Amino acid sequence: MTSADPAVPQRARILDPAAIERKLALNTYNVDASRAHIRIIDHDVCLHCVRQQCINCCPANCYVPNNDGRVIFSYEGCVECGTCRIVCHEFRNIEWTYPRGGFGITYRYG
Ligand code: SF4
Repeated sequence: MTSADPAVPQRARILDPAAIERKLALNTYNVDASRAHIRIIDHDVCLHCVRQQCINCCPANCYVPNNDGRVIFSYEGCVECGTCRIVCHEFRNIEWTYPRGGFGITYRYG
């Protein structure tokens, strides 16, 4: 997606998204339905974040732009890389922990 409006943030374009999907599909997850290990602290803060790097940087596509300018987050497919914790350095609007023991991702690739 491209835009001539400099106020509209440009999104990174992944050349072969299917390749990432194929690798992620090999992993298994034991989702802790009673506790999200990551959450956006205040969704209104995202309205002030021009870059919203969490959307560009999350390899599992857990962050999705909402039409109202906020960010939708789902933790179920998280690969626990910690990237979102780092890229949200301007507003520190992500509360990040690992899943509880026995929950989360089991890597099966590589
Ligand atoms: Fe995405 Fe990594 Fe953050 Fe999980 S830890 S939500 S995979 S950027």
